[in-house]
Amino acid sequence: MTIRINNYIGGKDVGASVDEFGVKINPRTGEKLEEVTYSSAVEVKNAIDVADEAFSEWRDMRPSERGRVMVELGRVIRANEKRLGEIESIETGKPGHEMPTLIDLTAQFFEFYGGIVNVMDGEIINQGPNYHVYTRRDPFGVIGVILPWNAPLHQAARAIAPALAVGNTVVAKPSEHTPGSLIELARLAVEEAGLPAGVLNVIVGRGSVVGPAMVDHPKIQKISFTGSVRAGQELGRIAADRILPLTLELGGKSANIVFDDADLNAAAKGSVRAFTWNSGQWCCAGTRLLVQENIHDEFVEKFVKEVKALRVGPEHDATSGPITTHAQFLKVQEYLKIAEDEGMTCAVGGKVASGANLNGGWYIEPTVFTGVTNEATLAKEEIFGPVVVVIPFKDEADALRIANDSDFGLAAGIWSRDIGRIHRVAAKLDAGRIVVNEYGGGFVQTPCGGFKHSGYGREQGIDALAHYTQLKSVIIRL
Ligand code: NAD
Repeated sequence: MTIRINNYIGGKDVGASVDEFGVKINPRTGEKLEEVTYSSAVEVKNAIDVADEAFSEWRDMRPSERGRVMVELGRVIRANEKRLGEIESIETGKPGHEMPTLIDLTAQFFEFYGGIVNVMDGEIINQGPNYHVYTRRDPFGVIGVILPWNAPLHQAARAIAPALAVGNTVVAKPSEHTPGSLIELARLAVEEAGLPAGVLNVIVGRGSVVGPAMVDHPKIQKISFTGSVRAGQELGRIAADRILPLTLELGGKSANIVFDDADLNAAAKGSVRAFTWNSGQWCCAGTRLLVQENIHDEFVEKFVKEVKALRVGPEHDATSGPITTHAQFLKVQEYLKIAEDEGMTCAVGGKVASGANLNGGWYIEPTVFTGVTNEATLAKEEIFGPVVVVIPFKDEADALRIANDSDFGLAAGIWSRDIGRIHRVAAKLDAGRIVVNEYGGGFVQTPCGGFKHSGYGREQGIDALAHYTQLKSVIIRL
């Protein structure tokens, strides 16, 4: 029997009023996996109305009580690690061994924000004995959360947890390619963690239908969007008419800079992870590898050797899995063709991966192009696949010039042992997150967000609470 993924609204499984659905294909095999309901504006409206009805009770709960439910949800997520991990791994194609870390991070978001519900309540502003003046941070009401397919639960939790912590209710829309794990999380939240039904609702369907329907509904007071620049721009255009606040977490083309004083072995290993983690389907991926000229050849030799050792496949312990969607699989191949047309030098990879274990799946060989300039198409555009360009640079100033010469500004990496250089370069890089001497995803407690086309607003960390509240001043003449 084919599984159909439906909406989860008000604590219930809800289909669409019109029987429209998409067919989700397993990226490891190319075979049909499940069907996904394509909701219309009717279901979106229904979900928002339900979230609005749940708002006043959730907002008026003692914050510590809200926090208790959220911390309990963290526990429930951990208790269901295997099940949630399996759903997400099969929908995305992520190697199974990566799931425990991602589920742990998902739980951490609810535990962290559940534990700090009160930290941004407001302040007293002294205006002398005849006044009592204070600020408070009020929730918006119903928040729309629109999500991509590359790390479904992690991205969902980092937006939903702070939104709920400060008293908002949520209508979340996962990608139509990976809806299953968030539907399961919402069900667990209501049925096992005690989240009141209606506080977290999940609507499945196409962004081009659900996005505009969310913006149109007057009870949606803010949208947190994570996805491509194109969709973020479309959403921004229609949101402008309603003066609707947005948090936009968009794409990246992050520079990962290797200086001549770095530990080259560590830099080679870390730089491989930077562009191949999640098969390169990572907004913060370090896909422009800037290498200082005087160590370029020595470093590239080490780096390419590490890339050659990667194991691409469907196995639980593979280093890279498939590309999650067929459209993205084709898009990465288009970029490989552009590289060929532009005469780029391919040091390793460069094509669709083949092998007895890969039959029917959407696998791309981890690919390194060398001797690239920052003007090349592959150095300018986000590919969202396991492809990196190596760009040589002369000195610190040259590295900064190249790194900042990009429309994007999401993340950057620095490899160096010179502490002065590290701080100088970090201060001057146009990027929302700088990682030094490793290339990882940061922590639940570290803000994440972009400069330039990579977006605005911040998720993660204490600061995210500010983005899910509205600041109000209360001025009392005594
Ligand atoms: P996408 O923009 O195609 O889709 C993201 C979500 O937006 C999906 O749920 C989709 O249905 C919806 N959507 C599509 N068109 C829409 C519209 N017109 N209005 C409203 N919603 C719409 O992105 P994707 O392919 O799912 O994800 C990959 C992109 O996400 C990459 O660019 C990646 O860099 C970015 N991303 C950014 C971050 C970050 O933190 N900055 C994190 C993960 C992914």
